[in-house]
Amino acid sequence: MALESLKDIVKKIARSTTVDKALVEEVVRDIQRALLKADVNVRQVKEISDAIKKRALSEDVLPTFNVREHIIRIVYEELMRGIGEGLEIPLKKAKIMLVGLQGSGKTTTAAKLAKYFKDKGMKTGVIAADTWRPAAYEQLKQLAESYGIGFYGEKENKDAVEIARNGLKALKDYDMIIIDTAGRHALEEELIDEMIEIAKATQPDYKLLVLDAAIGQLASRQAKAFHDAIGINGIIITKFDGTAKGGGALSAAREIGIPIAFIGTGEKVEDFERFDPAGFVSRLLGMGDIKALLEKVERVVSEEELDPEAFLKGTFTLKDVYKQIEAMNKMGPISKIFELLPFGFSMKVDDSMMEMTQEKMKKFRVIMDSMTEEELLNPKIIDSSRIRRIAIGSGTSPQEVKELLKYYKTMKSVMKKMKKGKFGKLPIKGLP
Ligand code: GDP
Repeated sequence: MALESLKDIVKKIARSTTVDKALVEEVVRDIQRALLKADVNVRQVKEISDAIKKRALSEDVLPTFNVREHIIRIVYEELMRGIGEGLEIPLKKAKIMLVGLQGSGKTTTAAKLAKYFKDKGMKTGVIAADTWRPAAYEQLKQLAESYGIGFYGEKENKDAVEIARNGLKALKDYDMIIIDTAGRHALEEELIDEMIEIAKATQPDYKLLVLDAAIGQLASRQAKAFHDAIGINGIIITKFDGTAKGGGALSAAREIGIPIAFIGTGEKVEDFERFDPAGFVSRLLGMGDIKALLEKVERVVSEEELDPEAFLKGTFTLKDVYKQIEAMNKMGPISKIFELLPFGFSMKVDDSMMEMTQEKMKKFRVIMDSMTEEELLNPKIIDSSRIRRIAIGSGTSPQEVKELLKYYKTMKSVMKKMKKGKFGKLPIKGLP
């Protein structure tokens, strides 16, 4: 797709040594142009580019990062945010119903999906319930047979619901069943009724919409119409290979809030991949080194992390909070750091902790600077008269001191739980 040009942007940044306004503006302009050319919705382009501009100029360059890494990291994160999460279908017994307009690539996709799951070791079968397009039956049968995929169809039967029901019975020993349904030229009443009936009869675990990437931003209307009609839970974008407008389908998915599950990248059954946002964005940027970059971010975090010794002894003090805040200052907002950590940690942390703004961090630090060593090491002794003294000394209010203490307590309980292994693996160096 047209986002090829993002690679040139990356090259351009590589030559710079400072983050100045002109460079950021140039990068942002190039990104806007590339996204618009790829048919990404204008509002989303604006959101993404505004965010990049703001962050690139306001956030400090992380220690040991160069300008290129600084900007790429932000571009990467904002593109990721713009794309949203992909839908991962676990390798468990399931039924998938495919819907979409005629010509979107539904039947081909049914075979692609079946092969995908078969290659993962699942016993997979397809049901040909597209009774509208006469060739669909033969097409799917042939594809299924040549890839060793189970097949069920009734050539002469026009009753798609009956076929689907019979198909489930015939393929009852299969792990993954994919049901191809009819498409029409437009979403008509009759088609909607049929889809609803098939869904009722088969109770699919997933209703996936097949969208042709070439329709660009029209994808949004189409996806919304299908979603309103039967409720879809994932999107498969086909023909990503043949169009410069793929961004339109991506933004459509984002707009209606339905994750993308797979993309089709060619006519052959093999030309199919799971939609992995991180890999996708890395490829857009022409960077194999995003992973290395993220690992570097992680290293910076862990070097600034808590004292593991103290942590193990359970003596998490305000001094550790101080260190944490120092680390965050270098890294940007805490939520961003957690997002980058591959531990699924962020989801389980209290929201109030995520709202640590730069301003609040600064205030907390000032408050701690007014505490005695004893208070920092043993916050329990901080009673209301001490709170008043600290507030006066730091030019803050008792309320704010209490807020810091509350933050400390929350953190401490999080740490305790982490120690008990409740949060899984820890992002802290030196711990098992
Ligand atoms: P259906 O009417 O939705 O069942 O559509 P088909 O599965 O028959 O596909 C319509 C056309 O699109 C066929 O010529 C397919 O080979 C082609 N097609 C499907 N998926 C892709 C894809 O990912 N890339 C390309 N280039 N062609 C595709």
